[in-house]
Amino acid sequence: MESNSPALLKVENLSKKFLIKKSLLKKEFFKAVDNVSFSVGYNQVLGIVGESGSGKSTIGRLILKLIKKDSGEVRFEGKDIYSLSRKEEKIFRRETSVIFQDPKTSLNPRFKIGQIIEEPLLIHGVPKKERKKKVEDAVKDAGLDETFLDRYPSELSGGQRQRVAIARAIVLNPKLIVADEPTSALDVSVQLQIINLIKKLKNEKKISFLFISHDLNVVGMLSDRILVLYRGKIMEKGDARHILKNPAHPYTKILIDSLPPEHPKDRKKLDAVPEIYREDVEGGCVFYSRCPVAQDICKKEPPYKTIDNREVYCHFV
Ligand code: ADP
Ligand code: MG
Repeated sequence: MESNSPALLKVENLSKKFLIKKSLLKKEFFKAVDNVSFSVGYNQVLGIVGESGSGKSTIGRLILKLIKKDSGEVRFEGKDIYSLSRKEEKIFRRETSVIFQDPKTSLNPRFKIGQIIEEPLLIHGVPKKERKKKVEDAVKDAGLDETFLDRYPSELSGGQRQRVAIARAIVLNPKLIVADEPTSALDVSVQLQIINLIKKLKNEKKISFLFISHDLNVVGMLSDRILVLYRGKIMEKGDARHILKNPAHPYTKILIDSLPPEHPKDRKKLDAVPEIYREDVEGGCVFYSRCPVAQDICKKEPPYKTIDNREVYCHFV
């Protein structure tokens, strides 16, 4: 399903379990990410959407090497990120960065904005004479003026703080940014501004994004491609327009049905897909218990099927 252009990031069969219970006799694990494959092209936004607990942040952390994988492969510009030389590791750290949900906790309150944005430059040994200009450029590219550099995070609004987090994320000119729910803590009008800023950075600076959100409406506004996640598994992935217009997986259909786009205030949250139709079946489709169209065949795990510019995890495609 992937396009022909070479991928900036290529993830294959990535899996991660967490230990949730340990007794003398037994260890119990939870599969947070289950055999996930996808790629992010150059100058591309891949949106990852799924309800809370579906494994979105774990995927983000794995590809930034903030946590260890169990199995699978992650390649950044063709290189396996888990076997980089020290020099390559430095380049990888420089060329990837992250924006988190809550700018209140992700910015150090004791640092001025200028220091916050400068920190990655210090970490990466950028000479002093280059730093000032890079910090000024980054804050402007994030839509703030230089007067902000002398202020503290507590003096800023939520949207302004998120712009600072973005300035910090772009100051080293990365190729890929993992944006983990960057708009979820913001008011709807401010959300739009941040989405537009991300679009602008993609278009003007050719930065690729892995954009994570529980909100399909938000993901749909800026993604070139979309990956729909449920319980650590990909339900559907492919071209964003195709998926939004003509969803193939029952879960994606439910998500789209619960989004009246003309009335963003009334729209239901992704977490509001509460129906449980039947008991889960071990080894069956992971969406079995909540699927409105499941049949007996769904007690067996479905294969991924390729149709219409995407891959879908469902027997009935
Ligand atoms: P999302 O970002 O989609 O809300 P996460 O990736 O944060 O989901 O988490 C996926 C699942 O993995 C959740 O059930 C979560 O509780 C579990 N999980 C995440 N991190 C850990 C951890 N360090 N230890 C144990 N369980 C974890
Ligand atoms: Mg998360």
